Amino acid sequence: MGFLRRLKRFFGSTTPEDHAPDPAAERFADETEDEEPEYVRKVTKIRRDVLEMVFEAAKASHPHEFGGTLRAEGDTVTELILVPATIGGERHALLPLYNLPVDPSIIGTVHSHPSPYAIPSDADLSLFRYFGHTHVIVANPYRHGTWRAYDHGGREIELEIVEDSF
Ligand SMILES: [Zn+2]
Repeated sequence: MGFLRRLKRFFGSTTPEDHAPDPAAERFADETEDEEPEYVRKVTKIRRDVLEMVFEAAKASHPHEFGGTLRAEGDTVTELILVPATIGGERHALLPLYNLPVDPSIIGTVHSHPSPYAIPSDADLSLFRYFGHTHVIVANPYRHGTWRAYDHGGREIELEIVEDSF
């Protein structure tokens, strides 16, 4: 499948504003041109145990941010992968992700905000555009109701919570 068709499949239905040239989309297409189509499959669910690990990691890192990546199988986020070098230290926990090798099963990022606001910062938006398509931010106090998910463009998306075994 050509990458334009895969892109169209990834972005789904478009609105007029989506027709504007999007440098992030072009970069995404370039990076994934030789990857399996699975990489651009829409992810719509997250396993409950993954979310709970996210909450625990965020609490353990507080008042610092923690950062990690998310692995998906099919349409479901199934695994949290911590980025060890970043835990507790840097001002922005996710910057080392720019150096990660390409792994098609890694579909996005997760990080915590020690503030009560799960709103992406400008740096977050840059990272979202650069890396993956499904991103989670969990805000203090790191529990259900304090996390949100975003697509590569920083638009809020819904992730359905599914039980661990299914
Ligand atoms: Zn952030």
